[in-house]
Amino acid sequence: MNLNAQPTASLFIDGRPVEGEGAALPVFYPYTGQEIATLREASTDQVALACQAAARAQPAWAALAPVDRARVLSRAAAIIRARNDELSRLETLDTGKPIQETLIADWESGAQALEYFAGLGPTLTGQMIPLGRDWAYTRREPLGVCAGIGAWNYPSQIACWKAAPALIMGNAMVFKPSEETPLGALQLAAILTEAGLPAGIFNVVQGGGAVGAALVTDVNVAKVSLTGSVPTGRRVYAAAAEGMRHVTMELGGKSPLIVFDDASLEDAVGAAMLANFYSSGQICSNGTRVFVQEGIRDAFLRRLAERAATIRMGDPLDAETQHGPITSPAQAEKIRAAIAAGQAAGARLVCGGPGEGAFIPPTVFADATDDMTIARDEIFGPVMTTLTFRDEAEVIARANATGFGLAAGVFTQDLTRAHRVTAGLQAGTCWINAYNLTPVEMPFGGVKQSGIGRENSAAAIEHYSQLKSVYVGMGPVEAPY
Ligand code: NDP
Repeated sequence: MNLNAQPTASLFIDGRPVEGEGAALPVFYPYTGQEIATLREASTDQVALACQAAARAQPAWAALAPVDRARVLSRAAAIIRARNDELSRLETLDTGKPIQETLIADWESGAQALEYFAGLGPTLTGQMIPLGRDWAYTRREPLGVCAGIGAWNYPSQIACWKAAPALIMGNAMVFKPSEETPLGALQLAAILTEAGLPAGIFNVVQGGGAVGAALVTDVNVAKVSLTGSVPTGRRVYAAAAEGMRHVTMELGGKSPLIVFDDASLEDAVGAAMLANFYSSGQICSNGTRVFVQEGIRDAFLRRLAERAATIRMGDPLDAETQHGPITSPAQAEKIRAAIAAGQAAGARLVCGGPGEGAFIPPTVFADATDDMTIARDEIFGPVMTTLTFRDEAEVIARANATGFGLAAGVFTQDLTRAHRVTAGLQAGTCWINAYNLTPVEMPFGGVKQSGIGRENSAAAIEHYSQLKSVYVGMGPVEAPY
């Protein structure tokens, strides 16, 4: 099978593919370990050039009528839809995620973001403020050049989620994908260009943390949107603060999924599996602390083990495969270390385990306690920790006893309890009788250490624009001197 995924060039600057001048960046297909492309990182000069190109192009883009910007985004969404098969295959090669997932969850979600913000943009208006004789109005203006930095789990979706609200508001963007998954962002740049985006408005630079750091501190950058881990988020937030740059931080989590004993067992088990095993568990909002009420604990674990045993692991390009490899060998080793720590701490392995090579099977721990590292630290792999609880007040307190606050879920048939519990949970996104659904219409983001700002929905617009107030004097100026 031909797995060659070599792009035209490694970077995309000022409307065209440009080769990187930095270190070699090999790209591996996680399933076979085969090198499918060799890119080159951007040099520091190339990061600066990309930001300069963005700064030059941005004012004319911002001066367009919103419908004219929207048309470009809509066209890009249509191109993505037309090429979804080919783009999804590339996403699978880049990430190792099963093709049955990438066909419906990655570029599809990116296309929806472009469509949504294309529709929303032209409806945004300022405010007219009557002040008696005088009056004032507000203008929602772009920030300028925005830096986007992505994680490796949803590389193309992340690029679209950041580009769509930024571009519709008249900003330009320089995007750095994770060095593990550099291919999708280059496709987005080419698609946006084909859709009519002017040169310089969406640029891609490649490289690791050093390239990201150069981008964050570039003199032309007014805003930084990062999807990544909490430690990286702290560093990037601090670096951005130096220049008083705006930030959006979409960071990690250790989210609680609470199952009360009146819940539909089948739905709760299905959601817990989705919340831990989809994308081989490499999802920031995963419900990795599954709190099960005492009364249904045994039935829950029994059904979970039965259903987990049916998950098909294997070749991600096979349409039947439900569970693919971990995206990088280093991440697979981190997950194995977490599983070993869980066993050493005395938690019971219900199913799964360390696996072999790039594969880690769906893994469930029982008899865990809140102080174990498997119940405290983000693992970012297919590892579910189940915990038992007695009552509502206790579970809310334990669910909140973490520095993270990205997401949470509640399964119960009791209507008032569902809303009471979600009101008490410290999380940016909560689901009732559902998990991990992130439609573009709904704000998404974290509280506490899990982040700042929101992606998706009208809320994202706030983070890619600033208000200008204009006071209009309608009469003589009354000066006291
Ligand atoms: P990292 O934090 O390691 O990296 C995120 C991005 O930041 C990468 O592109 C990375 O480059 C870059 N980076 C690293 N250091 C710096 C720096 N000093 N300045 C600027 N950029 C830098 O995260 P992962 O890629 O490992 O992704 C996994 C993490 O992302 C998990 O914690 C997960 O929870 C979180 N995540 C959060 C989501 C959310 O929406 N809340 C969604 C998806 C993931 P490189 O890796 O190339 O070195």
